[in-house]
Amino acid sequence: MISIENLVKDFGDVSVLKGISSEISKGEVISIIGPSGCGKSTLLRCLNLLEEPTSGSITVDGVDLLKPKADVAAVRQNMNMVFQSFNLYAHMTALENLTLAPIKLRGTAKEEAEERCMDLLRMVGLAERAHYFPHELSGGQKQRVAIARCMAMVPEIILLDEPTSALDPTMVSEVLAVIRKLAQQGLTMLIVTHEMDFARDVSTRVLYMDEGTIYEEGPPEQIFDNPQRERTRAFIHGVRAWSYAFSSPDVDLFAMHGEINAFGEKQLLSRQAIYNLQLLSEELIQLFMPQLRKGAQFEFAVEYVDTQGALNAWLKMPAGLQNPFDAAGKKVREGDVGEEDDGKEDDEIGLVLIRNLAATIEYQETGDKAQLTFSVNQEPSKQAV
Ligand code: ADP
Ligand code: MG
Repeated sequence: MISIENLVKDFGDVSVLKGISSEISKGEVISIIGPSGCGKSTLLRCLNLLEEPTSGSITVDGVDLLKPKADVAAVRQNMNMVFQSFNLYAHMTALENLTLAPIKLRGTAKEEAEERCMDLLRMVGLAERAHYFPHELSGGQKQRVAIARCMAMVPEIILLDEPTSALDPTMVSEVLAVIRKLAQQGLTMLIVTHEMDFARDVSTRVLYMDEGTIYEEGPPEQIFDNPQRERTRAFIHGVRAWSYAFSSPDVDLFAMHGEINAFGEKQLLSRQAIYNLQLLSEELIQLFMPQLRKGAQFEFAVEYVDTQGALNAWLKMPAGLQNPFDAAGKKVREGDVGEEDDGKEDDEIGLVLIRNLAATIEYQETGDKAQLTFSVNQEPSKQAV
């Protein structure tokens, strides 16, 4: 139904949409999510020609919208938009806001338009308020009027740009309920939203936009439960990250620990979690001292996954160094005849310490890079070292 190909939008020197391509079928409900400023509004505005795309093509039902002779008014009626800030006419009643376009643009008779628009107001639960002016309505009611007005032109596609962002939290659900109803009626919709739970259960597909591209798209289960790419994961989980690169045995531990402390305090991590991160970084530096002496490049990275309360750390390094945990694992198993590890060697004490700091430790090599991944304990370790 809608085919978007390599859509580009520049504002002067700034490239906002950097080649967007997507196919949208009739009846699909697409949620568009992504960080602020990534171009979500610009994409919707390009689709119904409120902005003129710089290049690319948009085809709706086989009609190329960017052909010079495209009927812009007809495009906007067929692909009508609901704005964050309602955009109702202040000097007109709710009903007049709805009937204006059908009467003016479609030449519908006043009586007929009023009758149909009353039905729409009834559908959004506001027939009783038909003769109220916008200032006499709550935010949620205004947005429901705006949605009904959008439907008055009988569009095939509706575009909603953060329809609940300007609302008091108590009014969000009444507006979402109306949008949900439209979605169930089989209307084709593109919704830019920050309401993740809503996007999850109303959409057929989710587009995650980042820096002017569709960075990842998929069914809601994929995007919300199992995002495939790093930035999508970071966005979905509210990840906060910090990292520190070093390549010398003289790494400034005071500076590094100071940064870990600042990061931890900002993320409201427990004292123990911060201490565990500091100890982990210190032990890892000891463990890889021989490689550091040779000038190998390392990076210690930490992320805190807000929605899961998970604390992960990585040591990124060149591939080809031995995975010390693998070797130690074998050693411990070989010597394991009912005796505890005697921990005579410094390295082994370090390994045991590190094992006590992390619930899981994984080693992974890709190309010329390798990393150790730790899920870091945030409680005191149960096992005494
Ligand atoms: P989002 O809706 O994802 O928050 P927008 O599409 O509103 O992002 O904006 C994307 C970028 O384009 C922003 O950096 C914004 O400043 C810029 N932008 C949007 N509209 C204009 C405009 N009319 N002129 C110049 N820059 C604009
Ligand atoms: Mg926006």
